Amino acid sequence: MSLTPLEDVQAAVLRECEPLTPRAVDLQEALGCVTSTPVEAEELVPPFDNTAMDGFAVQAADTADPPVELKVVGTLAAGADPSGFRVGGSEAVRIMTGAPMPPGADAVVMVERTRTEGDVVVVEHHAAPGDHVRRAGDDLKPGDVVVDAGTVLTPAHLGVLASLGYQRVPVFPRPRVGVLSTGDELVEGAAPLHAGQIRDSNRPTLVALVRQSGFTPVDLGLARDDEATIAAAVEKGLASCDALVTSGGVSVGDFDYVKAVLDRLGSMRSWQVAIKPAKPLAFGTVQGKPVFGLPGNPVSSMVSFELFARPALRRMGGHRRFFRTQVDAVVAEPIRRRPDGKLHLVRVVAAPGEDGRWRVRPVGGQGSHQLAAAAAANALALVPDGDGVEAGSTVKALLLSGDPG
Ligand code: AMP
Ligand code: MG
Repeated sequence: MSLTPLEDVQAAVLRECEPLTPRAVDLQEALGCVTSTPVEAEELVPPFDNTAMDGFAVQAADTADPPVELKVVGTLAAGADPSGFRVGGSEAVRIMTGAPMPPGADAVVMVERTRTEGDVVVVEHHAAPGDHVRRAGDDLKPGDVVVDAGTVLTPAHLGVLASLGYQRVPVFPRPRVGVLSTGDELVEGAAPLHAGQIRDSNRPTLVALVRQSGFTPVDLGLARDDEATIAAAVEKGLASCDALVTSGGVSVGDFDYVKAVLDRLGSMRSWQVAIKPAKPLAFGTVQGKPVFGLPGNPVSSMVSFELFARPALRRMGGHRRFFRTQVDAVVAEPIRRRPDGKLHLVRVVAAPGEDGRWRVRPVGGQGSHQLAAAAAANALALVPDGDGVEAGSTVKALLLSGDPG
């Protein structure tokens, strides 16, 4: 099977992964979700004129020639109703931050600029009209667009929506992603290893990648290398998930059944991608839902998730930017490789140098089974086909944290 360029496979996979149907979700659930329609304010925020300071609400004109004595005619705390209050000439109302401005007053003198003597306040400062007054609608007015369609919701957005009384927000739902490991050699958890067995490390990694990406992981456990078992696990998973990620069983070995299962249950495509690691990829849609058949080697499954599943799942979640940030980086030490028709994704530590340019240094152990070495990396250097790159030269690097928004 010939090798297919990375971008072609990414495009083919993305095409099949349409955004999920938007729905209203609770604010508490919406962090990181993408809005499906613009949201407009229907109220004023703040809802009324109020004071930004503890102090005295006054008529500014009374303070033109400080110090002046004003009669304190009442006290307004935050939450109090100001309708029974009125500040007349030479009068003041004691007022606390957030309390509504009493009728008649047009400025607040902060408490630090006053002295009180019984029911008289001595104002030592010339206040201008509007001083320390937060106007109704200062932040939002009815009709203002609070968040546009396509906004990735941050904590501050959620607070703004709450300030308007919204409890739900229209978003593309977070994709629910089932994670299934396949392989006869795999052992669950801490059970003793018998001859030929290894522990299942892909599932915890992939579940965590799903969660870290803002999707909802569903642990579908472990399936033996048996067509019926894998098919049953895939069907069960799809009953409650929007997409599945499997690992293992997509190469050309004798017991690689994932492709056969996807072929039987839905439509399946597979590629030998012109990259190292993560060359084999099976991708199918079953009941209209995408299934990513990632390779089994631990580093490969992680890289494959990053390159193919994550961008496609972001599209399903309504994101408009699918891919991680790519930067130009200076190679701190030579990266040697052989020509093989593939783009090499070298696990590197990337950090900005003193000159502001990114620097990358490969982590030790670039085998696709060496997850411990890969765990030290925070980026993938894209080393093109050829003999490698010299120290001081520039490569593209894909940063494995953060998103372009
Ligand atoms: P496969 O893609 O099934 O041929 O597996 C390729 C390699 O990855 C083999 O060495 C497997 O033992 C290993 N492998 C497959 N699945 C897992 C897993 N869930 N955790 C750790 N290693 C795995
Ligand atoms: Mg296997």
